[in-house]
Amino acid sequence: MRLRLHGELRFFNPRAGRTLAFQGGPSLKHLLEGAGVPHPEIDWLRVDGLAASLDSPAGAGTLVEAGSVVRVQPAGEPWRFVLDCHLGRLAKHLRLLGFDTRFQTDSPDGWLARISAEEDRWLLTRDRALLFRSIVRRGYLVRSPTPREQLAAVLARHACAASAQPLSRCLACNEPLVPERLESGLAEAPPKTRLWCREFRRCPACRKLFWKGAHFDRLMALVAARPGAP
Ligand SMILES: [Zn+2]
Repeated sequence: MRLRLHGELRFFNPRAGRTLAFQGGPSLKHLLEGAGVPHPEIDWLRVDGLAASLDSPAGAGTLVEAGSVVRVQPAGEPWRFVLDCHLGRLAKHLRLLGFDTRFQTDSPDGWLARISAEEDRWLLTRDRALLFRSIVRRGYLVRSPTPREQLAAVLARHACAASAQPLSRCLACNEPLVPERLESGLAEAPPKTRLWCREFRRCPACRKLFWKGAHFDRLMALVAARPGAP
C-alpha cells in the first residue's frame, strides 16, 4: 500500500506530499499513526479514491490518502479548548478573544487527554505524542514556537474567528467577565488609560480589571485577517 498526505498533514512526514510505501496494520488509524500522523489531525481519508474512516481495515486498497480541512464546530456547540503547559501565551490570546480555554502550568498528559475527551475540547499541544492517545478525538499539533504564529495557525485551521467575543473572558482564570462601573474602572486604571478609556470589565473570580489596550488592537487585526471574521 502507498500513502499520500495532503495539506497540513504533510508536516508529519519528512517526505511531505510524496507517495510513500508503508506496511499494513489492523486499521487505517494504526497505519497512519505508524507513518507519524496523529489520528486527531486527520480530517479526511480516502482509499483508492473512496471515502474511508480511521476504523477501516488497512490493506483493502493500494493508495491511502489523508488530508486536513478547516474545522467547523457542530451547530450550537461553542468553541472550547484545552492547552498544554507550553502554550501559556496562546491561552491568553484565545481567552482575550473570548474562547473558553482551559490552561494550567501543571498539566500532566493524562489530565489534558481526559479533559479534552470529557469536555469535548480541542486539545492544542506542542507534544505530538499526546495526540496519539486514543481517547483524544479533537486535537491539533501547534507547529510554531511563536505565540502570534500559533494563534494565526489555530485561526487558520479552526473556523472560530467569527465566534470571537473579545474581552468577555478573564485572561488569568478563564471566567466570563462582567461590566464594571465607569467610575470604579477609572479610579483603578493607570493615568494614561484614564485619558481615553470609557469601558471596563471585571473578573468576578480574581477581581482583575480589563479594558481594550494596544495589545487588544493588534490581536484583533490578526483575527480580522481570517475568513469569516466579524
Ligand atoms: Zn479572573
